[in-house]
Amino acid sequence: MSPLAAGRASPYNVPEMSDDLNLKTEMEFAYGMPSPMAPGVVRLVANNASKLTFKGTNTYLIGSASLAVIDPGPEDREHKEAILKAAQDRPISHIVITHAHRDHVEGVAALKAETGAKVFAFGRTPDTDGTDSADHAGSEEFTDHAFTPDVGLADGDRIAGEDWELTALHTPGHAPDHLCFALAGHGVVFSGDHVMAWNTSVIAPPEGRMADYLRSLEKLLERDDSVFLPGHGGRIIAPRRTVRAYLLHRRWREQAILDAVRQGKNTIRKLVPAIYRDLDEDIVGVATLSLRAHVEHLVERGLIVCDDVANVDCALVFSSP
Ligand SMILES: [Zn+2]
Repeated sequence: MSPLAAGRASPYNVPEMSDDLNLKTEMEFAYGMPSPMAPGVVRLVANNASKLTFKGTNTYLIGSASLAVIDPGPEDREHKEAILKAAQDRPISHIVITHAHRDHVEGVAALKAETGAKVFAFGRTPDTDGTDSADHAGSEEFTDHAFTPDVGLADGDRIAGEDWELTALHTPGHAPDHLCFALAGHGVVFSGDHVMAWNTSVIAPPEGRMADYLRSLEKLLERDDSVFLPGHGGRIIAPRRTVRAYLLHRRWREQAILDAVRQGKNTIRKLVPAIYRDLDEDIVGVATLSLRAHVEHLVERGLIVCDDVANVDCALVFSSP
């Protein structure tokens, strides 16, 4: 079972919530073997499976002359060798990053050293990075704050090789620097960790922001793409339906939280077991942060009052309109 869908039997969950998601956990692949995903696109899966990375981080190679590599993945010599082997004799000119989480960027240095490729990613600023924020420390486990691209990208920027062109779509929420990339001419979007088929995206404050995430989902609904290739798990062949289901899922969850608070689960600590039942010990931390992201979003809109959302024991006061 996927970690954050574990609450389907909770008294505060509406049954349709998880069913609507129709999470897709089957995935055909072999580590080290490139799989064709779209014309001119192959995928390699890094061998870093975990509860948060599923079977491992997906690395995509794009093009037929000079190549772009999206997300080299973790630091792993075998994975790097598999990327170089899949490239055959074609030069890798671009390394393109969806976001600076460790499972996506730790392999950048070695691949760059080997290929001389330029690294492209969202240009973080102190504002978006959170480096000047006091509770920034909590994100270090996941985020490589030292990562800096050669070329900073902003929303709408294009990068191209001989026979491919990618447009950056700034999609903060899971991470403030998150970019999806639309591949011109194929209806393909590389959706990173923003939209995946195997599970919903983890929104973990302080870097993760629910309001941004929901806006970034809506941004993808304005487009008409035919397939998403995510950062973990298999391809998404009905992307708009998936995005709509994720928006609905978050609305249901928010409603479940409001119901639980109304029934006396009035701290984030008390909400965790009410919303996520039978949670494995090792993902309680992530589930807690995910709930905090929802609570922050409720506080921002004045639906809940809380003096300090970073404190799991802070009283949540329900304010009905
Ligand atoms: Zn990831």
